[in-house]
Amino acid sequence: NILQPQAAIDEQDKQEEGIRPQRFADYIGQKDLKDVLDIAIKAAKSRNEVLDHLLLYGPPGLGKTTMAMILASEMGVSCKITSAPALERPRDIVGLLVNLKPGDILFVDEIHRLSRMTEEILYPAMEDYRLDITIGKGSSARIRSVPLSKFTLVGATTRVGALTSPLRDRFGLVQKLRFYEVEELSKIVLRSAQLLKTPVTEDGAIEIARRSRGTPRIANRLLKRVRDYAEVKLSGEVTENVAAEALQLFQVDPCGLDWTDRRMLSVIIEQFNGGPVGLETIAAATGEDTQTIEEVYEPYLMQIGYLSRTPRGRIATKAAYKHLDFTPPNEQLS
Ligand code: ATP
Repeated sequence: NILQPQAAIDEQDKQEEGIRPQRFADYIGQKDLKDVLDIAIKAAKSRNEVLDHLLLYGPPGLGKTTMAMILASEMGVSCKITSAPALERPRDIVGLLVNLKPGDILFVDEIHRLSRMTEEILYPAMEDYRLDITIGKGSSARIRSVPLSKFTLVGATTRVGALTSPLRDRFGLVQKLRFYEVEELSKIVLRSAQLLKTPVTEDGAIEIARRSRGTPRIANRLLKRVRDYAEVKLSGEVTENVAAEALQLFQVDPCGLDWTDRRMLSVIIEQFNGGPVGLETIAAATGEDTQTIEEVYEPYLMQIGYLSRTPRGRIATKAAYKHLDFTPPNEQLS
């Protein structure tokens, strides 16, 4: 599945590390984010301070982890990468915090999923670089404070609204990552193709970019599928036609929609007359869980104007009817 989260496909995508940009200059797009961080880096460096804690939010695969790693390399520090589900017990986070060196970056993915205890350990750590440890129990319990190195927490989340406000308030910088334009994605495809030593024409790169749902991780993944197809079936060069043929085979349509996207929209259109339809119903019809639908599928469908969310449920737009070859209700003959 092209939309799987990073962790689930790590094995298959070891190669991904080879094409991950290492420097600011290679990080394509996200101009607003880069402008803000460029200033933050320069200011921190000139004052000899650590970077402010940074919260990055947006759909998966847009480059949050990559940006945390780039920040570390630009600041000349190390980046420790973890995710909230791996920090269930207090000692997990304590172990990471005490081992940080001055200036280090601690990247916590899915930060909205932290357990309450872990979150409470983070508050004084973020604010005063201090660990408060409770020793003993009941009335004889004492709190001992242990100083930590000054560090930067970079939190990433697909659901900024799910963060508790005390946690959110402790981030000096809160930045949204947006979907990429086709032009930006085609630059990413061309760069990755060069690193993978795959010949791709400019039109071939654009065709892959168009079908990548505004997402670099998907662009890189589609490039690899197209490369395989081109090598097995043809001379090896990825042209516009080759990309289109290969992606049709993998059921990625010209807008980048896959089977689940199309099923979501057609259920709303065919069974519910365009909506509104509740999230649970869409989940049952597609076999995806509600969270994946909300965080992975819907943001892109809304971005391209095929779906709208209302308090009463999801609605398929006129553009969605047209894309799936249905006649929109107000154009149907009565
Ligand atoms: P998740 O939160 O789901 O892990 P993410 O937002 O952290 O996703 P990354 O792992 O940083 O996503 O990015 C996915 C891949 O996309 C990276 O391996 C990298 O090669 C590529 N990529 C991301 N952003 C860019 C960019 N701006 N320029 C070039 N390549 C990028």
